[in-house]
Amino acid sequence: MQRITTKLLQPVEWQSDARCHEVDPEIFFPERGGSSKAARAVCNDCPVRNQCLEYALNNKEQFGIWGGTSERERRRLRRERTRRTLRAVS
Ligand code: SF4
Repeated sequence: MQRITTKLLQPVEWQSDARCHEVDPEIFFPERGGSSKAARAVCNDCPVRNQCLEYALNNKEQFGIWGGTSERERRRLRRERTRRTLRAVS
């Protein structure tokens, strides 16, 4: 419940257009091994998906589906960005 409350209270303007306001927030926090299919379907149709994903990446959101990605997928994206940044400066 804490995780959901935290997500819903983020004071960022793009969230007013978020599709997840229209559905049960529980689907964005599936149990370990549970399906994220319903949440991803909502994200796929969300006009602020890119902003949501950037927000989650920048804030290192550890729980739930953000921008259609899981925690694991966001960790991988952050690692890839870090590698690209390091390559660019070396
Ligand atoms: S991309 Fe998904 S989690 Fe993000 S605002 Fe849209 S519906 Fe919500």
